[in-house]
Parts: sequence; structure tokens; C-alpha cells
Amino acid sequence: MNAVVDAIDELLPQTQCRQCGFTGCRPYAEAIAAGTASINRCPPGSADVITELAALLETDAMPADETCGVTAAPAVAVIDEAECIGCTLCITACPVDAIVGARRLMHTVIAVECTGCGLCLPPCPVDCIAIAPTGAAHDRQRQREAAGRLRQRYLARQQRLAGKSPRRRKAVAATATPAAARKRAMLDRALSRARARIVAKP
Ligand code: SF4
Ligand code: SF4
Ligand code: SF4
Repeated sequence: MNAVVDAIDELLPQTQCRQCGFTGCRPYAEAIAAGTASINRCPPGSADVITELAALLETDAMPADETCGVTAAPAVAVIDEAECIGCTLCITACPVDAIVGARRLMHTVIAVECTGCGLCLPPCPVDCIAIAPTGAAHDRQRQREAAGRLRQRYLARQQRLAGKSPRRRKAVAATATPAAARKRAMLDRALSRARARIVAKP
């Protein structure tokens, strides 16, 4: 089973954006392999990923499930540094460590590492992060080339969080509680609203 999950995961964009309804690309790959999720739930991957997954799994392609969102043009987060209060909440939210900064100091997005997933928007208390299109078109080849690096950044972050101080480990463990799940669901709803606003903009 792991080889199948690996092969599916290899095709996913690794933005870890959670639009598929799972906590990241790997859990979605596991659900596809287990037959509990369909192959059409990854907006960043566009129809290309559906086609590739269908070929891999020797099944039929299908239209994208737009309840997960629509494929957006490449974009990056931009922080209005004059407004940033240095709370670090965006750093905590970014799954690929694309934000640098320190407490009470302004924060900056490393544009080349940012996937434009928007997960940093809802936690920002002063609403000073925007998602800006890069002007490039969706490019599956480039996406595939970036995926390995994004997976490594995501895994390195997970390992770092897991290996921090006992207090930090407790905090990470607390993210598995029902209260944390409710908070995550609330953030996910806020994120959906933010994404809807981004897509609705002309
Ligand atoms: S990139 Fe696709 S598979 Fe990965 S978390 Fe986002 S929607 Fe899910
Ligand atoms: S900076 Fe924001 S938009 Fe960019 S990858 Fe991190 S969470 Fe996603
Ligand atoms: S969440 Fe907003 S205010 Fe807080 S550090 Fe990030 S950009 Fe600055």
C-alpha cells in the first residue's frame, strides 16, 4: 500500500493547502489509495493531476470537484510590512516555511517558496496579508519540479515542530484535541471565505 500512496503523493503538488479537505497532500494520497476519496479534489493540480492520477490508478478521469475550489493562477502572499505587528501567527500557519520574521518585528514572505495557498491569511489579526497573482500561467511542469522541494520543506517543518521543547511538543499534541479541531475548522471556514474573495476579484 505504501508504494501506491508514494506514487499518488508523487503526483500531488505538495502545496499542503488543504483544499482537498485533508490536512495535506499525503493524507489525501492515503485516502485515494484506500478508496475513500476521489481523484478530483486537488484544485492546485488542475485537470492535469486528475488525468495523471486516473492513468496511474487505471481508472476514468472525471471533472474537478469544484466544491474544493477552482484552479487559480500562480500567486504569492504579500505582507504589508507597515501594518505588520510581528505576532508570528502567519509563520505558524505556513506549511512550507515561506515566511520569515521574529516576534514584534515585521514579517516577510520568501516569494520563491510561497505557493499562494492563503493559509496565512485567516490568522493575521490586522489583515495585512494579500494574495497577489505572479502574472505567470499555470504550468504543470514547473509545479512538478517544485513539488519535491515543497515536500522537503513541509517535512522539515513537521520534524522541527515535533522536536521542539516539551512545552512546544505539548502544544503540537494539543492540535489533535477536539477543541483544536474546532478551531481548525473555524480557520478553514475563514480561509474558504478569503479564497472566495480572491477568486471573485476581477
Ligand atoms: S495541493 Fe492538492 S492534495 Fe495537496 S493539500 Fe492542496 S488540494 Fe490537497
Ligand atoms: S506564505 Fe502564506 S500563501 Fe505563501 S505558502 Fe505560506 S501560508 Fe501559503
Ligand atoms: S500574522 Fe499578520 S501581523 Fe502577524 S506577523 Fe504575520 S503578517 Fe504580521
